[in-house]
Amino acid sequence: MTTTQQDCRALDAQDPLRALRDLFDVPANTIYLDGNSLGAMPRSAPARVAEVVTTEWGRDLIRSWNSAGWFEMPRKVGDLIARLIGAEPGTTIATDSTSVNLFKALSAALRISAETKPGRWRIVSERSNFPTDLYIAEALCKDKGWELVLVEPHEIAEALKDEKLAILMLTHVNYRTGAMHDMAAVTQAAHEAGVLVVWDLAHSAGAVPVDLTGADADFAVGCGYKYLNGGPGAPAFVWVNPKHADRCWQPLAGWWGHDKPFAFTPDYQPAAGIVRYQCGTQPMISLAALECGVQSVLAAEPLGGMAALRRKSLALTDLFIALVEERCAGHGLSLVTPREHTRRGSQVCLSKTEGAYAIVQALIARGVIGDYRAGDGAGHPDILRFGFTPLYVGFEDVWNAVEHLCQVLETGEWQGAAFQRQHAVT
Ligand SMILES: *Cc1c(COP(=O)(O)O)cnc(C)c1O
Repeated sequence: MTTTQQDCRALDAQDPLRALRDLFDVPANTIYLDGNSLGAMPRSAPARVAEVVTTEWGRDLIRSWNSAGWFEMPRKVGDLIARLIGAEPGTTIATDSTSVNLFKALSAALRISAETKPGRWRIVSERSNFPTDLYIAEALCKDKGWELVLVEPHEIAEALKDEKLAILMLTHVNYRTGAMHDMAAVTQAAHEAGVLVVWDLAHSAGAVPVDLTGADADFAVGCGYKYLNGGPGAPAFVWVNPKHADRCWQPLAGWWGHDKPFAFTPDYQPAAGIVRYQCGTQPMISLAALECGVQSVLAAEPLGGMAALRRKSLALTDLFIALVEERCAGHGLSLVTPREHTRRGSQVCLSKTEGAYAIVQALIARGVIGDYRAGDGAGHPDILRFGFTPLYVGFEDVWNAVEHLCQVLETGEWQGAAFQRQHAVT
């Protein structure tokens, strides 16, 4: 049965999470389907950032390291993020970028594997993993004389049989396809094979329920500016299973990871636990914005938390898929994202052999903001990517977005010259 715009309005009216939309400043006439790339701005962020700048920095100056709790900020925000990823307090820290955190986590995993399972020197990841993850792993392998092996998702089970395999490095929800791994099952299979697992939660934290403790994962990193709404270039986070946290140094052993940074000793003494995963002085203005972003997700806790957000996210993506298939049929769009709920993240990707980039540009000109990811010439096609952040995307937004997509395709509007011009950031 066809879902009408009226039905979508009714769904919004009944949505128990609807009020959360008011926590954000999404501009009028904008349907924002790119929160998987840069989350929308929480309304609380401008005043909070202004307070950090004018009062904490401007007036209180260096005293704020103590009086405003600056020194503890990475741990405090880490503990807030922990509530979204099934982590215990004191195991997660908000710091650095995802890439840098991955370097630290992967290096520590290499070291632990070398000590506990000597003779293993391979890392396996997915060929369609986010490139920075692969680049970091490749650089580490070059440096250590290890080997990075790239496989397709269905080849992971086979790859675990390799007795030289030390580490499985996976992104929980694929940035390109929106496909989600079964974290508990994959982690268990890896452990049975003597392999440590490093998870990237860039498209999971704040988007889908995650239980790092329940899965007994080894290491995890994730992004602050996507579903955590922390602002452009927000600090990322790193989580280490408490059983590993004190076992080794991480390689970027800066003074903020020292047990007593203000003792200024010439030798390094790592702090206990996750604090040693900090490197240098942390960005307070950015951390303040990230805290606002994480709080905007935690605002769902009294309304059912991540489980409620997940229910709405699946309803939004189901609706988007159904409407696209019903109303945009015959235009050469194919669904890349898995239909099965257990395998789908919070985004929907459509492939198209011709014009994917230009269609996204034409949609953006109409105020429907999604993004485009280029094919890699190795079996992964050009895609139109739409992220659904249930905090601020509604059912009527989905209906309108599909209406715009149909019009862009039917009128051939996307073939206009202006939409072919490639920007530096897609
Ligand atoms: C977005 C994303 C990153 C981003 O890394 P930065 O260091 O923050 O630029 C890394 N990995 C994955 C899987 C991502 O989706």
